[in-house]
Amino acid sequence: MSQSPQPWLDKSLSADERAAHLVAAMTLDEMISLVHGPMPMIMREKPPGALGAAGFVPGVERLGIPCLNQTDASLGIANLRVKAPGDGSTGLPSGLALASSFDSALSRAAGAMVGAEARAMGFNVLLGGGANLTREPRCGRNFEYLGEDPLLTGILAGEAIAGAQSNKIVCTLKHFALNDQETSRHTVDALIAEGPFRESDLLAFQIAIERGDPGSVMCAYNKVNGDWAGENAFLMTQVLKGDWGYKGWVMSDWGAVHSTAKAVNAGLDQECGEQLDSEVFFGEPLKAAVLAGDVAPARVADMVQRILRSLIVTGVFDHPPAPHTPDVAAHARIAQTAAEAGCVLLKNDGVLPLDRRLRKIAIIGGHADIGVLSGGGSSQVIPFGGPALAIRVGEIGGFPRRIIYHPSSPLEALRAAAPQTQFTFDPGTDPHAAADTARQADLAIVFAVQWASEFEDLTTLSLPDDQDALIEAVSAAAQKTVVVVQSGSPILMPWLDQVSAVLEAWYPGSKGGEAIAAVLTGEVNPRGRLPISFPHSVDQLVRPQIPGLILGPPIEGETLPTLNPDVQHLKACFPVDHIEGAAVGYRWYARQGSRPLFAFGHGLSYSAFDHADLAVTGGQTVTATFTTTNTGKRAGVDTPQLYLITKDQDGRPVQRLIGWQTVPLGPGETCSVTLTADPRLLANFDAQAQLWKIPPGPVGVAVGASAVDLTLHAEAVLVVSSRAP
Ligand code: BGC
Repeated sequence: MSQSPQPWLDKSLSADERAAHLVAAMTLDEMISLVHGPMPMIMREKPPGALGAAGFVPGVERLGIPCLNQTDASLGIANLRVKAPGDGSTGLPSGLALASSFDSALSRAAGAMVGAEARAMGFNVLLGGGANLTREPRCGRNFEYLGEDPLLTGILAGEAIAGAQSNKIVCTLKHFALNDQETSRHTVDALIAEGPFRESDLLAFQIAIERGDPGSVMCAYNKVNGDWAGENAFLMTQVLKGDWGYKGWVMSDWGAVHSTAKAVNAGLDQECGEQLDSEVFFGEPLKAAVLAGDVAPARVADMVQRILRSLIVTGVFDHPPAPHTPDVAAHARIAQTAAEAGCVLLKNDGVLPLDRRLRKIAIIGGHADIGVLSGGGSSQVIPFGGPALAIRVGEIGGFPRRIIYHPSSPLEALRAAAPQTQFTFDPGTDPHAAADTARQADLAIVFAVQWASEFEDLTTLSLPDDQDALIEAVSAAAQKTVVVVQSGSPILMPWLDQVSAVLEAWYPGSKGGEAIAAVLTGEVNPRGRLPISFPHSVDQLVRPQIPGLILGPPIEGETLPTLNPDVQHLKACFPVDHIEGAAVGYRWYARQGSRPLFAFGHGLSYSAFDHADLAVTGGQTVTATFTTTNTGKRAGVDTPQLYLITKDQDGRPVQRLIGWQTVPLGPGETCSVTLTADPRLLANFDAQAQLWKIPPGPVGVAVGASAVDLTLHAEAVLVVSSRAP
């Protein structure tokens, strides 16, 4: 033990030891002050030291414990209440775009960019990123997350966290767990059996934690198997802190705390955004609970130890933020690279890349003359210089709800990229007028938009505002039609056969216009792959209707201490049985033996790739070796995917992504790829034995360009093995 009067400053000690010294020096009141805090963004008078963003926790000055200034989130520094004209931040493309790159290095670079801006602005806790699997394709927050596969989500979330934390800030993995719908997020009780839970959403969080070691984890709003996520001892104490050995802290979501002793004893370490709860549960009531013996003093010490340890490990404690101007030009380049890599070319009959000899192109709809769409809610980034367009759509809890377009015009970027072509613009509000414009051009490009936001789910996967009719009218009139989609979810495409090409650009961020233009013109070869399945219709979904979605006026006289209007529609908790278990997304289609419109993993290139010579070995894992060859004329990036194809105990088909690689290839070039599976992806989780168990025997292994386009097949023989959770 160090003899110094301030042993927590001794950097030769471990973070655990330093944190323990601090805890030992603290009074109970000081400890309690560190485990709860308000949302300064909605306060008239900000507490001293608060930057005025999503969250704040005062420090303990006498011990050098810094204030925690918490900001959203993973797509850039969210700044809903921008004050000064120059305020703003770099907006990354949405999580689904990042996931479409399947690129862990890019995810790390994107996370590092957001972390750098957070630190430059003086924040030390970043409230991103999200790792909830897309169980509900209409979920309003799908755009923030990374799709439907646990391996892809876990790896990319972990890399983004590691990138962000490289800036000496704490990063937060959220929302733990099963916050898979926004409508009724405060009243859903997500029911799922433990085995399938461990094999899906929990596995995504587990991998993200192993890769990224986030300083904090945020609980979800909903209940899981009967207990609020923030009162859920199974989630927080047994799985996260027990099985996974997690040493950071669990913070609440804003307005997700319902009790003191139950929450604390179940493993919740910090109450955030406390004004949104019905009372401040972790303030005076926590002290009273300790004095009454309902919460052990050691548990309070543990809560604080976890917070301090994370501050020390990440460097927050030793390196106070030094606000400065970030390198916004470099950040914009990262945003553009990510947006380009995230564009998924879904269909192309050869019309793309655009022929530079085309004389006249009609650009239609989607405000493509001024900008690109972004997703709404707490992750909303306000761009430098302000939005190109902000459409007010009511408010939530005093927050203006606005559909925001980043000032990055695809039209202007296309004009710059193809100066010899004449571009005309039609807003797309009148299908007849748009069809007339399209008729006079050699080609029409329709920009279709679907806005999604935190707080509410989409009521439909169809494009809003009659855009299907617009696309049908344009494609009937134009010689050729390309559709560029900016969406936060899959969309239905009744017009698919009538158009020549479809590019899914998601919400492409600060440099989205430039990225879309680069892909359309062929300056960049598209390489994105779908991280979520696109259904033919909602009838293919696990739940054709969103549970708890009640359309209609709010119940009169109801006011609840929450940001979410959905509880005004439906106050009582209700169960949502996750009958799909671990069969989320493409795994569900495989189990049902049905094919989606566009499958997970699908994405075209201006090149073509051929996979050959698959050889696999089995045993305690699967290792597969094969080649990929660029048979096209352009350099491109291939993303071959490796799937496990087997059956579950009930004889139902099972398909799981067990590996992939992003492979840059010049024309004619061949590369050998070797992938080894994480054994957990070959195993089933035995809840009774509390073990991952690999069933012995032969399993199928397939390589392909998507979950349904499997060209190489082999068999591996697995040997029985088990491992701890
Ligand atoms: C969201 C969180 C967010 C928090 C603070 C909540 O509404 O669910 O993801 O970090 O607000 O803004």
